[in-house]
Amino acid sequence: MLRLDTEVQFVKGVGPRRSVLLTSRGVRTVGDLLLRIPRAYQDRSKFVSLNALQPGHEAAVHARIYTSRAIQTRTRGRILDVVITDGTSFAHAKWFHGGYLQQARAFAAGRDVVLYGRVDRDNYDSQLVFFNPEFELLSEGNEEQADAASLDIGRIVPIYEELAGLTSRQLRRIVWAALGDLADPLDDPVPPSIRAEHGFPDLRACLQRIHFPSAEDSIEDLNQRKSPSHRRLIFEEFFLLELVFALRKKQSQIAEGVRFQTDEKIRACVKKILPFHPTSAQKRVFKEIVDDLKAPHPMSRLLQGDVGSGKTIVAFESIVVAVENGYQAAIMAPTEILAEQHYLNAKRVLAPLGYSIGVLRRGIKKAEKKKLFEALAAGEIQLVIGTHVLVEESTVFKSLGLVVIDEQHRFGVVQRLQLMAKGARPNTLVMTATPIPRTLAMTLYGDLDLSVIDEMPPGRTPIRTSHATEKDVSEVHRTLARQMEKGRQCYAVYPVIEESEKVDMKSATEGFEKLSKVFPDRKVALLHGRLKSEEKEAIMRSFAAGETDILVSTTVIEVGVDVANATVMLIEHAERFGLAQLHQLRGRVGRGSEASLCVLMTPAKISDTARERIRAMVSTTDGFRLAEVDLRLRGPGELAGTRQSGLPEFRVANLMEDTALLALAQREAKKWVESGDEALRLLAALAERSSTISATALATVG
Ligand code: ADP
Ligand code: MG
Repeated sequence: MLRLDTEVQFVKGVGPRRSVLLTSRGVRTVGDLLLRIPRAYQDRSKFVSLNALQPGHEAAVHARIYTSRAIQTRTRGRILDVVITDGTSFAHAKWFHGGYLQQARAFAAGRDVVLYGRVDRDNYDSQLVFFNPEFELLSEGNEEQADAASLDIGRIVPIYEELAGLTSRQLRRIVWAALGDLADPLDDPVPPSIRAEHGFPDLRACLQRIHFPSAEDSIEDLNQRKSPSHRRLIFEEFFLLELVFALRKKQSQIAEGVRFQTDEKIRACVKKILPFHPTSAQKRVFKEIVDDLKAPHPMSRLLQGDVGSGKTIVAFESIVVAVENGYQAAIMAPTEILAEQHYLNAKRVLAPLGYSIGVLRRGIKKAEKKKLFEALAAGEIQLVIGTHVLVEESTVFKSLGLVVIDEQHRFGVVQRLQLMAKGARPNTLVMTATPIPRTLAMTLYGDLDLSVIDEMPPGRTPIRTSHATEKDVSEVHRTLARQMEKGRQCYAVYPVIEESEKVDMKSATEGFEKLSKVFPDRKVALLHGRLKSEEKEAIMRSFAAGETDILVSTTVIEVGVDVANATVMLIEHAERFGLAQLHQLRGRVGRGSEASLCVLMTPAKISDTARERIRAMVSTTDGFRLAEVDLRLRGPGELAGTRQSGLPEFRVANLMEDTALLALAQREAKKWVESGDEALRLLAALAERSSTISATALATVG
């Protein structure tokens, strides 16, 4: 008897050699094999008679071989040409692959054969012909062969992705053998009540039918992954993940966290840092945060909002509440550069309150670092900014009350859960730089409460985006010139090439030299990651003060830079940027009342997906819509580098298509966790055969 955790080598027809190959492709157990579900299904259940064949359609036929011969063609080499008949008509089957020629003799006249494939009309003689069809030669009285043949023809047949050199046909046999020896029943981790309520078959039946559907299954449902078996497996993957989130959420609500108060004085401090009236969305979101901060359990909240919607100030308002309650706050950024940006920003925004602010810089001297840590431990520093090293190192806070995590999608579910498990349950606010699609948010941040700023600050004029290639360069320069004549400023951004700072600097440097030549009367400055932070600050200050006309830069300006008088964003080699990054960069302009422009420069020839990204950028400025496009173009695994950052890898589920089941799983998981102590046992059972979520993530729910 096979179990799902039995090694795949014990499946009939696998053997040691194939099992090594399969294992190297990640298929170690019977469960791994059976959870690689078919890529598609073909309905080969009904045989069509030859006089009813329709060119252009796929069909299964059962006929007798009339003649068969290998022929030499001028253009396509040797082919095997077989004529079949079923008494109603004749048709040809032609194979071009050399391999079949060796079998030519097996296609003997008089033998029965079943074929499946697309029927076409031959260009030469307009006969009906199957080109390279799947086939099965039948011989009378050979039971075993007839049985095996029935896996390929005469039913709804699964089509598999090639695996370790095994074809669909070979995989069908292996999967069939595995199912034949599989224990019955299997332990089913999805509770019977849920299965009954949603019409999910039990696990054993589900695996059988997903590989070898029964006659009642609808071919359309199967191919759209909507059969009951598909829905059940998809649900199960989501259910496991949502259980983890629901359990964590419940635990954090039981736990006592750091608890804040607000009063007149604190409200006055918050007002002091506001350079403008908050939008109603900002007010609403800040209230949601303050309610959390005042509640006994620690806050776990995700703050979403489009680029330029004003998330930063909300984060700083929250920091003021923490500090005025006598606690320390930390901002954690995914990169050094972003940490630096936050630091500059914090110093400016919080200046009226005179907080002491620390930053953990790269290359900081040992002695200086020691001093910083001592000051943190003594509570002399009220706000500290750094990368996640801040929390990984043996940093000691006197009283850490609020952690703001600027995510940029770069931390994933696992790292974040680890991070939050550290320390004395501080309040946590997670911010994303650009919006992420709802489904992705639910899988990456399912245990966080969501706040959305869905309104732009007043007085914005929409940004016009255009695509330009090399032939348009002088026109682009004229556009820049016109804006500068009006007193406006421009950004020119160059990509990071191959993550190499040297090369990266070189392309920006060349751009700087070029633009300096084109605009000899203008002040052009160059900003890149290798400058000392005082130099960076000086350059930024001069640009912010309007003393610099064009700021040439690598992507260091991606976040945090805020100059309302800048109205042109010129992005060189825009094809090399991701959609989220382009949107984030574009968000640096359009911050004042002047109409702004974003110019995306690319070579004339770019890849199709790059072209789609550019097209999306030109057609909309809505970050939530761009996020959906990004998800569609790249798939969840590649989206904003989530692969490295612990986005769960689903075997069956698809984040773009299975939104409804994700929502269902979330509701069911909540119900289970609320209903009592069964949830942990259930989680353990689900986790046993899942690679969806790692042991580390599970550990965070204790
Ligand atoms: P993001 O959400 O992208 O982080 P920012 O916080 O950087 O956006 O805000 C974008 C710009 O809008 C900044 O210049 C900020 O000062 C300004 N801003 C934010 N909120 C308001 C508001 N309520 N009224 C006017 N300007 C605002
Ligand atoms: Mg921002």
